[in-house]
Amino acid sequence: MNYFPLFLNLHEQNCLIIGGGDVAARKIRLLAAAGGKIMVVAPQLCEELASAAEAGKLIYLAASFCEAQLQNVRLVIAATDSEEVNRQVFEACEARGILVNAVDDPASCRFITPAIVDRSPLVIAISTSGGVPVLARQLRTQLEALIPHGYGDLAQMAADFRDEVKATLVSTDARKQFWEKTLAGPIPDMVFAGKHAAARQALSDSIKADADAPLQGAVYLVGCGPGNPDLLTFRALRLMQQADAVLYDNLVSLPILEMVRRDAERVYVGKKSNNHAVPQQEINQLLVRYALQGKKVLRLKGGDPFIFGRGGEEIEELAAAGIAFEVVPGITSAAGASCYAGIPLTHRDYAQSVTFVTGHRRDGEVELDWPRLVNPTETVVVYMGVAQLEKICQQLIKHGRNPDTPAAMVENATLAKQRVVIGTLSSLPQRASERGIKPPALIIIGEVVSLHDKLKWRED
Ligand code: SAH
Repeated sequence: MNYFPLFLNLHEQNCLIIGGGDVAARKIRLLAAAGGKIMVVAPQLCEELASAAEAGKLIYLAASFCEAQLQNVRLVIAATDSEEVNRQVFEACEARGILVNAVDDPASCRFITPAIVDRSPLVIAISTSGGVPVLARQLRTQLEALIPHGYGDLAQMAADFRDEVKATLVSTDARKQFWEKTLAGPIPDMVFAGKHAAARQALSDSIKADADAPLQGAVYLVGCGPGNPDLLTFRALRLMQQADAVLYDNLVSLPILEMVRRDAERVYVGKKSNNHAVPQQEINQLLVRYALQGKKVLRLKGGDPFIFGRGGEEIEELAAAGIAFEVVPGITSAAGASCYAGIPLTHRDYAQSVTFVTGHRRDGEVELDWPRLVNPTETVVVYMGVAQLEKICQQLIKHGRNPDTPAAMVENATLAKQRVVIGTLSSLPQRASERGIKPPALIIIGEVVSLHDKLKWRED
């Protein structure tokens, strides 16, 4: 190891920065956040630093560097353009035992600064020992995506309870077990969901509770988008990696399922049109049963759970049983199909509104409010409409929509096997049947479909 990693308490400590440009400003932001007293020496200041000086947030000395400025200084950063000045600063600091860093000049550094992921009070520092800062930054970007923003709040909350835990649980082992159990339980998720008061209450309760007390179950109703795993939300991904049990249906693609925690129990509750693998009522009851066993249950749904997803029905049952639940939105397939097929659902020249309807009815017949769907400046997207495509097109024409209105079918939207069939209200049914289009597919009707030719960015 070339450098010893440490975190420095700079509160009220004099920090001297040589240089007044953007690089200096970047370093000063962090030093100030850590509570350092900032002094800047430079012939002139960039705008950001000038206004900070004006606001009294730093002391500014309009001068060049000289050794006398190092009096009572704890830490120095040289952020000048001149290697020579940086060297001079370094040597002067070394002679006095002052910690010194010259930006991007490892030879003139006693310490180097890491790339950081800041979830204060939790801070992750990454360093390549000055070798490849870009690599450290790339890793940082990955961690930024992986670590929920609520981690800072979680760390703060745990710190706030430290004394209470210490006073209640006397042995180190008991405390270790307590924190392991607590941090693997539902409390972090409460914090991430912004339920801070509830999380504090739960933490306080569990400190007092018997270690054997049953765990709290919860259900997460998560939309996982149209099938392409890149379109998952961060929240969905995190919950997928924590779940004890996963209930999923046939719209949840295999690559997505593979991202679920390996040792989670998997239950397929899929249904294909008219072929209900598990009746809805049974799914609802399964969710309740798992949650009552204290499990973290993930109910994965294609697209968005509240758009033709019966998400509402499932959580009604949970609410009635007093089970904690959370709903995570997903990209609905209409949005996925629209983007991946190059068919904007609205467009200033073609469509001022968009309506989502379902082609599926409980008794198998399409009963839509047809007169409402014939406005030529409105896009209509039909979910679950493959079997009824011909009827839907006929009805729209019958109620006054122009038979030449462009219309498309998008099958397996966002996946590598996506297919797009373009036609008009009168020609689409035959074209779709020639191409053998099967569910899952969406019908998009309206002038916007004519943009596909120009805006498509994938092969049909
Ligand atoms: N909650 C889901 C919709 C469930 S209804 C959502 O928000 O997308 C099921 C219907 O969604 C399917 O019949 C089909 O019309 C549509 N659908 C879901 N995934 C799709 C995909 N990848 N490509 C095209 N249509 C899809």
